[in-house]
Amino acid sequence: MNSRNDQHNIEKEKLVSNTEERNARHKKAMQRKKEYIDGRIAEATIDKGLLVVLTGNGKGKSSSAFGMLARSVGHGLRCGVVQFIKGQWECGEQMLFADHPLVEFYVMNTGFTWETQDRDKDIEAAVATWKKAAALLSNPEVKVVILDELTYMLTYGYLDKEMVLSALENRPADQHVIVTGRNASKELIELADTVTELNENKHAFYDGVKVQKGIDY
Ligand code: ATP
Ligand code: MG
Repeated sequence: MNSRNDQHNIEKEKLVSNTEERNARHKKAMQRKKEYIDGRIAEATIDKGLLVVLTGNGKGKSSSAFGMLARSVGHGLRCGVVQFIKGQWECGEQMLFADHPLVEFYVMNTGFTWETQDRDKDIEAAVATWKKAAALLSNPEVKVVILDELTYMLTYGYLDKEMVLSALENRPADQHVIVTGRNASKELIELADTVTELNENKHAFYDGVKVQKGIDY
């Protein structure tokens, strides 16, 4: 009986000392991590308008852009949104932000290019919509601009690549721009400060799930 208790106590002590050792190791590792992160934070001193590109086939590009819009509006920044493809469904972000006093919200008046099936009509709509974007990109009062699904206008050749790149490059120095859409061009990626390529791992659509309010639109 005694030896059983002894054995139990030995095991318990081992456990305590293992935990203490692990906690001490964790503390040391976290101290090193904090030093590294604090150092990197201290090195980051540049303040500038960013060009953020959200591309790739995975879900989350537009919703991430509208997440940044929500943050910006929360901070009282004046914002602009141009949506280059009008979806089939009334999207929640449009309902929330279109009438917001801090947000100018424009939506191209045609649907997906595979729905209109009319190249001339698409180009006309793209050019008219780009004018709204160009005005936002030359207005220093506007601090954040979202160009949602812009990449398709470039891949289909609806908008002149040079014109778009030059407007992005010559925008006010403190203006942030977020561009979304699949297949962002090499030039756009080169010009950008932050690029995230969302990778599709799974999508419910392929299991036959239809678009869901709040999640998809
Ligand atoms: P979200 O607006 O949800 O952030 P997204 O901007 O990354 O998505 P888009 O390519 O613009 O993706 O597609 C818009 C709509 O299509 C959304 O309803 C989204 O859920 C859906 N979608 C996104 N990726 C896929 C996919 N791989 N297959 C089918 N539908 C998709
Ligand atoms: Mg999108």
